[in-house]
Amino acid sequence: MEHTRKHSRKRDAILDCMRSTTCHPSAEWVYQQLKPVFPDISLGTVYRNLAMFKANGTIQSIGVVGGLERYDAEVAPHAHFICTCCGSVTDLPLAALEPTVLEEAGRLAHGTVSSYQLQFTGCCARCSEEKSQ
Ligand SMILES: [Zn+2]
Ligand SMILES: [Zn+2]
Repeated sequence: MEHTRKHSRKRDAILDCMRSTTCHPSAEWVYQQLKPVFPDISLGTVYRNLAMFKANGTIQSIGVVGGLERYDAEVAPHAHFICTCCGSVTDLPLAALEPTVLEEAGRLAHGTVSSYQLQFTGCCARCSEEKSQ
């Protein structure tokens, strides 16, 4: 019993951590945040829980950036800007795609489209500034 309670406390903490940031963290980042609070937490535990949250739609994966899978607690479709220099990921408040675009995508895929990801890559303001110095 004690074991399960401890287990779900970590699970809750992982989800809280995900929801308290907009940095689109990797499992490693979440692990570093929680390590001081749960000294016995393992990176594997963080990975397993993130995979579970992803599977049940609580969070989404936005793909691999710089070799690490990155996660987002915001699951509604929205656009991302990924800096290929420093790996930062930010949300872009772009308007959602027209439903006709999704219909067209479904037609081309010969299936039904239920979600999409829109990602832009480039160099963020901070990295551009550092480069020009
Ligand atoms: Zn950058
Ligand atoms: Zn996002």
